[in-house]
Amino acid sequence: MKAVVFHGIGDIRLDTVPDPAIQQPTDAVVRITSSAICGTDLHMIRGTMPGMQPGTILGHEAVGIVEEVGRNVRNLRKGDRVLVPSTISCGHCAYCRAGYTAQCDTANPNGPLAGTAFYGGPKATGPFDGLQAQYARTALAHASLIRLPDNIDDDRAILMSDIFPTGFFGAQLAEVQLGDTVAVFGAGPVGQFAVASAKLMGAGRVICVDRVPSRLDMARAQGAEVVDFDVDDPVHTILELTGGIGVDRVIDAVGVDAVRAAKGPAASAQQDREQKFDQERDEIAPERNEQGRHWTPGSGPSQVLQWAVKAVAKAGTVSIIGVYPANDRFFPIGEAMNRNLSVRMGNCNHRAITPHLVELVANGSFDPISVLTQREPITNAIEAYQAFDAREPGWIKVKLEP
Ligand SMILES: [Zn+2]
Repeated sequence: MKAVVFHGIGDIRLDTVPDPAIQQPTDAVVRITSSAICGTDLHMIRGTMPGMQPGTILGHEAVGIVEEVGRNVRNLRKGDRVLVPSTISCGHCAYCRAGYTAQCDTANPNGPLAGTAFYGGPKATGPFDGLQAQYARTALAHASLIRLPDNIDDDRAILMSDIFPTGFFGAQLAEVQLGDTVAVFGAGPVGQFAVASAKLMGAGRVICVDRVPSRLDMARAQGAEVVDFDVDDPVHTILELTGGIGVDRVIDAVGVDAVRAAKGPAASAQQDREQKFDQERDEIAPERNEQGRHWTPGSGPSQVLQWAVKAVAKAGTVSIIGVYPANDRFFPIGEAMNRNLSVRMGNCNHRAITPHLVELVANGSFDPISVLTQREPITNAIEAYQAFDAREPGWIKVKLEP
């Protein structure tokens, strides 16, 4: 079969590889009808999320048809149309039963303390061969796969494999309540679903921060107030828009960002911009600005965490769903502690959240379709990755068709 295979940092190829087979009684083999490219894939290809093993098939989003099931998959059979959630969970351990399916004790072959098991990731996550392929072996299929109703097409379903649940999880972690003002940093696909989910939970206002005009347009179309951080200092603007108070909840849907990793002209331009922003912020909230000043690229918390902690009101909640590598050690803890912030974070508990979202889409309460902007055959996968990586205008979410 054809599959997108990781060969090394910056080196992915469309290869012909052996078809997968059942290995465990709880496995299913799924013929994939739709896959997708995610921002997390880019982190793995760039090496900002380390530990990828050469030969691993990429991708952690898929919709497909069950081709074959193991002896202990008793709820599915050949021909069933299913959604494959990105993370794998057993359904019987204490964590799964409590809804923390991303912390399943059973799914990760590296042991219960190894963390989240997901498709197409680094060694520490399994590794499990991913879903940008024509077929996939899905582990713990009985407890992980979700059967799809006929009225949800692949274009909508593929958005529920990872990014819609992750955005929803971000709003859940942020403890969004009726009437809250919520800031979402990052207007990529997950950020778009964080905006949508905050609204579904009753947020009164949502402010969305990014630098890509087409992404900001999409957030505005959802009813968000948008801030372009290349034009305006996001913290200054959010304080101004909230009477100097800040937002009740903030969601980081960016994660480890390119700005901090950048060296040379991009980093020094960013430093110049930070200095200018520091001066602007002093006009509206000098006390708040004091503690987090003097940030330099390459040494401290990511830009988005700095902004998130400054933009949230006293006693507000910071929710982190953007991806950080396991060895990242920086958070502006002093500012957060001194302002009584709650900080909640983690990998999405897909299997606990997604059935509810499938129901919302099936009954017409919410239509996720506007976030899907590109459909490409898997044979164009490498070019699609390049266009997505370059953030070409309008490229928000790319579906791959095997
Ligand atoms: Zn489990």
